[in-house]
Amino acid sequence: MNDSIDYDVIIVGAGPVGGYLATKFRENGVSVLILEEHSEIGRPFQCAGLVNPSAMEKVGLYDTVLTRIWGARMHSPSGLSIEIGQQNRVRTWSVCRKLFDEAVVREALESGAEISLSSKPINAVRNEDNVEVEISTPLGNKTITCSLLCGADGAHSWVRRKFRMGRPKEMMIGFQIEVTGYPGVDGKLDVYTGEDIAPGFFAWAIPSGDTTRIGTWTRPDRLGERNCEELLNNLLKKEIWKERFNGCKEIGRYCGPIPSGLISKPLIERVAVFGDAAGLCKPTTGGGIGKGFEQVDLLVPYLSEAIKKEKLSETDMEKMRKLLIPMKKKLNRSKALRNAFLTEATDDELDDVFSIWSRPEIIELINEKGDIENPIPLGIQMLRDVPEFRRLTKKAAAAIILG
Ligand SMILES: Cc1cc2nc3c(=O)[nH]c(=O)nc-3n(C[C@H](O)[C@H](O)[C@H](O)COP(=O)(O)OP(=O)(O)OC[C@H]3O[C@@H](n4cnc5c(N)ncnc54)[C@H](O)[C@@H]3O)c2cc1C
Repeated sequence: MNDSIDYDVIIVGAGPVGGYLATKFRENGVSVLILEEHSEIGRPFQCAGLVNPSAMEKVGLYDTVLTRIWGARMHSPSGLSIEIGQQNRVRTWSVCRKLFDEAVVREALESGAEISLSSKPINAVRNEDNVEVEISTPLGNKTITCSLLCGADGAHSWVRRKFRMGRPKEMMIGFQIEVTGYPGVDGKLDVYTGEDIAPGFFAWAIPSGDTTRIGTWTRPDRLGERNCEELLNNLLKKEIWKERFNGCKEIGRYCGPIPSGLISKPLIERVAVFGDAAGLCKPTTGGGIGKGFEQVDLLVPYLSEAIKKEKLSETDMEKMRKLLIPMKKKLNRSKALRNAFLTEATDDELDDVFSIWSRPEIIELINEKGDIENPIPLGIQMLRDVPEFRRLTKKAAAAIILG
């Protein structure tokens, strides 16, 4: 046991990933202090509130679910629509993010983790046998020590920047409003595409209990002189769909970054970053909760052992970095498929893609193989089996093969 520490681990950030990370460390007998800069958990949040089935299974928080999502209506730029999904197969859960985040953190506290609210690090120094973290708290500044400092502090992570651990490859930006009065179909989300509403990406309308979350996301370089709010307004006013939005009444709005592409050094001597801080949002959907949980499950057993054996040197952490290579490759492949089918397609090309997707045999294939969590098998099968998509193969091939 290292005598020079107050806690084995200090986690900066009590979001879903920080909360889950704390629980998993506790399960491995590791002492944990969480620092959260806000005075409450789950506010403010910037999220469409979708939690995929495997992430939900890990935490079992079904009482935070607002709507069970089993299908989608997808709309091409010119208005061609396809409907996918089977009512008996849940594709994802639409949750109340405030309740979800609170419950994940409550699980951590029940497992023995401690938390300091309205607290954040202002400095951190790595020593041979500990990390000294100076924190600001409502009661003044103080210094606490730990064996391992973890950043689960979101897209603009302080920990990542402090220790120069790299940058996410892509930083998308999302803008969303919450409305009443949207005439959606229960259990189905709407996906809208087009250069004027979500250049290179898509806009969404997600049922969330009595309300609907309507949003759009894109990369800053695709915005030009526009901003995301303008894109969303374009969607609401677009001739072919505007009737749907006429009766909507806005009750909230959110805007936030979506970091995607694992950073170069998510683990360095005595420091590790997780979730958005590590750049783990999916390039295909922007979802970050599931990938963050996956990263925690993968690394915590090794990190817990390393803490107990005092093996947290740069060489030890470099070995653990290698565990993330398959995850990184999978994200790169998904991004290559996204680029080929969506991000690099013009509106006319997207309309062509939709007209092919609308064939009954392709809808059947999507329903059978489509998986929000893992779009790679479906994407590859389409490139292989649908002659019209073979022209996309060249675009996607290098990244898919070399990943
Ligand atoms: C518009 C939009 C829609 C999205 N939709 C979805 C979706 O449907 N599904 C999905 O899975 N993901 C979605 N995401 C992404 C998702 O919100 C994130 O991936 C997820 O919240 C990541 O969790 P996290 O715990 O890593 O970070 P965060 O949720 O950002 O939590 C970080 C925590 O750290 C705290 N913190 C930050 N800095 C400090 C500091 N210096 N000191 C102390 N505390 C600090 C913050 O207050 C916060 O509580 C969306 C994002 C956007 C912008």
